[in-house]
Amino acid sequence: MPAATGAPGGRFAVLDPATGEAFEEAPDQRPDELDAIVGRAHDAWRGWRADPAARAGALLAAADAVEEAAPDIAPLLTREQGKPLAESYAEIARTAARMRYFAGLAPETERIADGRPVRSEIRWRPLGPVAAIVPWNFPLQLASAKFAPALAAGNTVVLKPSPFTPLATRLLGSVVSAALPEDVLTIVTGQEPLGARLASHPGIRHVTFTGSVPTGRAVAAGAAASLARVTLELGGNDAAILLEDVEVERIADRLFWSAFRNCGQVCMAVKRVYAPARLCSDVVEALAQRARTAVVGSGLAPDTQLGPVNNAPQLARVERCTARALADGGRAAAGGHRLERPGYFYAPTILADVPPDSPVVTEEQFGPVLPVLPYDSLDEAVEAANDTGFGLGGSVWGTDLDRAEAVADRLECGTAWINHHAELSLAQPFAGIKESGVGVAGGPWGLYGNLRPFVVHRPEEEA
Ligand code: NAD
Repeated sequence: MPAATGAPGGRFAVLDPATGEAFEEAPDQRPDELDAIVGRAHDAWRGWRADPAARAGALLAAADAVEEAAPDIAPLLTREQGKPLAESYAEIARTAARMRYFAGLAPETERIADGRPVRSEIRWRPLGPVAAIVPWNFPLQLASAKFAPALAAGNTVVLKPSPFTPLATRLLGSVVSAALPEDVLTIVTGQEPLGARLASHPGIRHVTFTGSVPTGRAVAAGAAASLARVTLELGGNDAAILLEDVEVERIADRLFWSAFRNCGQVCMAVKRVYAPARLCSDVVEALAQRARTAVVGSGLAPDTQLGPVNNAPQLARVERCTARALADGGRAAAGGHRLERPGYFYAPTILADVPPDSPVVTEEQFGPVLPVLPYDSLDEAVEAANDTGFGLGGSVWGTDLDRAEAVADRLECGTAWINHHAELSLAQPFAGIKESGVGVAGGPWGLYGNLRPFVVHRPEEEA
């Protein structure tokens, strides 16, 4: 963990997960600094909410600036997060695309037609200062998923990145802020209880959080103090169900990378595979072959496909889940161990023969480890896929698309794919069910999640 200083003007160390060594520092802001920061965000809100056209123009200019700054931001993101450089550039491109998408959205004033001689109108209004708290797996993309709709809707934002990945977000924040009025977007960095204080700050009107289920609960409890609106995008344990007619070699690359992209540190990664018992060993071998040949290394090396796990606690979690699966009778068809080198590298791992109640199946491993489980009947597979407290995404893989779609329709989650996984449209609603989330982000729903309805009733004619 980065070292806490807790002193005014203090800084904390940021580690490079490819070496395990500190390479930079970030400001360790204290919770009591938030009073002034949220106060300024509130003052800036008065001007920012007043002019939608100016807002859209500023966000578009900011998106251009983000793209221009990509050569500075991308290596910093790779250095602190670990992902391959090309993926850092892709993350920045998606960040700019999301800013442009929301700059182009505006709420629609709606008439209420209920037959009464009254002209009733819904006019959508912003909420006020928004607190955004994000994790370390896609720091920039998830930051923009918070600030782009909130700002486009006319709110101001105070955003806190994870202490594992504060640097690229600070740089992104300074690039975006240069195109906006002062204090419209503020990045704060530091360690707990900074996030807890931000989530419960009385000046905040919406807390939008992405992270783990336990922290999401704490955030919701904190926001209850001020009864601020809460949007939570939490963990997932997505299942991929392979059907009898699946062509294993044809889908193996796509399935593998649906689980291992960003070193498996994706909320919507495939985290469990269910294969017909007859095909299970073929599926295990096809995935294991890809796991053995994937190029693991520093994200800055040009041929790297998989970087390190981002941080030591996450690596410990991956090791614990895998060790337990092996102790439970599982078999590592590939990997199953750390790599003997500095940094937080873990060998891409395919697990077979794992009991269904082993933590690598029931919990969110959030790393480069994938269990493959056999099933006898499709009903059994669907039941197993849905038998979880999570409900983020799921996928079905097969040749007969109608049949696959009928199975996908039975998945209890927010988004289901056929022969793909985790590909999201900017225009779609993004909403986990059960413990995977509260509220809806993405698309117009993400904009309205940052607005409140204001209704004006006016008689058609004066009596
Ligand atoms: P985390 O919950 O540990 O931390 C998330 C953020 O909350 C960080 O900024 C952290 O500093 C902050 N935080 C920690 N304690 C807090 C508190 N008491 N009050 C307020 N803020 C606090 O999550 P993580 O380990 O950084 O990220 C991994 C998790 O995020 C996984 O569970 C993953 O599935 C989830 N995730 C979900 C989505 C989604 O869209 N559903 C996307 C990406 C990641």
